[in-house]
Amino acid sequence: MPALQLLSGLTEIADVGRDRRRGGYSRHLWQAADLELRSWFVERAERLGLQVETDRNGNLWAWWGHPGTDAVVTGSHLDSVPGGGAYDGPLGVISSLEAIGRLQASGFVPTRPCAVLMFAEEEGSRFGLACLGSRLLTGALDADQARALTDHDGVTLAEAARKFGLNPAQLGADPDALARIGLFIELHVEQGRGLIDLGQPVAVASSILAHGRWRLTVTGQGNHAGATAMAQRRDPMVATAQAIVGVQAAARSFPGTRATIGRIEAIPGGTNVIASSVHAWLDARAETDEETRLLVADIEARAQQAADQNGCSATLAEESWAGAVQFTPGLRERFAQTLGQVPQLSTGAGHDAGVLAAHVPSAMLFVRNPTGISHAPEEFAEAADCVAGIDALELVLRDLL
Ligand SMILES: [Zn+2]
Repeated sequence: MPALQLLSGLTEIADVGRDRRRGGYSRHLWQAADLELRSWFVERAERLGLQVETDRNGNLWAWWGHPGTDAVVTGSHLDSVPGGGAYDGPLGVISSLEAIGRLQASGFVPTRPCAVLMFAEEEGSRFGLACLGSRLLTGALDADQARALTDHDGVTLAEAARKFGLNPAQLGADPDALARIGLFIELHVEQGRGLIDLGQPVAVASSILAHGRWRLTVTGQGNHAGATAMAQRRDPMVATAQAIVGVQAAARSFPGTRATIGRIEAIPGGTNVIASSVHAWLDARAETDEETRLLVADIEARAQQAADQNGCSATLAEESWAGAVQFTPGLRERFAQTLGQVPQLSTGAGHDAGVLAAHVPSAMLFVRNPTGISHAPEEFAEAADCVAGIDALELVLRDLL
């Protein structure tokens, strides 16, 4: 297939949700760009004769033939982080549609049901919880907890779902929809440099690091920036700054772990005001669940110490947790047989396939990222590598269907 044809999918959505301020794309659940991408997905799937349905949680399913159990399901997501790249998510959705289009064009007739699945809010950019659509579908996230999640404007997930046209009472575990999935395959641009070092265009995923999100709240005393002498301050911003340095030190003391503060919020947030409290969001990851817990405990101890030194108090609250995932060994072996010498790589990034892996056989394919950069406008994949990814997906679908 010519690369241009593949890129047409990315080209068609290239102007949807561009973020002029941050660069890249901001495509968030049920906001204008996401709605436009959903329409595009429906139109593109219908061009292949697929039947599209929206499930109770806002995930889109495009069925090749009749929906049914033991289905081979492939897909990814179309939403992005704030100021994200063009490939994280869309490459998997577009490759799935392309692979099915190729199978159809070759006259292939599947012996099992097949669907392309587009997950809602994989990045958690609007409601703060990554893999929201797959966690709701599988029941990994409690429905009441989900309904109460709020976005930056204070809109609850329940309200947003209603506005989109879903029944908020029906959000949550959807065993009937889940029971149709015989196995799930997610193709994704690699978020790292593994394939660069190996000199290969495509890999099979072996595992996902344990990861989670925590909210650090440091509370001090709000006061006047001009009238309060330095010695009299209980400034949570200073304590938070020290805690952030502690996050880096903690992660460096546990080799192979990753910990990041990428977002902070000062209350009330005035230039001439000593903050009364500061929220900082921690993302922490490690090879095993236990190591991640140890890392976070160390970060919490350092944050407490930073708070004490500044007359403040600190609390660390877990907002989400995903244990380490090993992708289904049987599927990985079958992929290796179908694709030949393909490397296996672990990843530090979370994915819907990782959530599904606790319920159904799941696998991932990674496509080389020539800089390793992701969640940023510079994220990229060469057209030839994207084609190699579709080649691989087509082969495994042909084998499994
Ligand atoms: Zn992704």
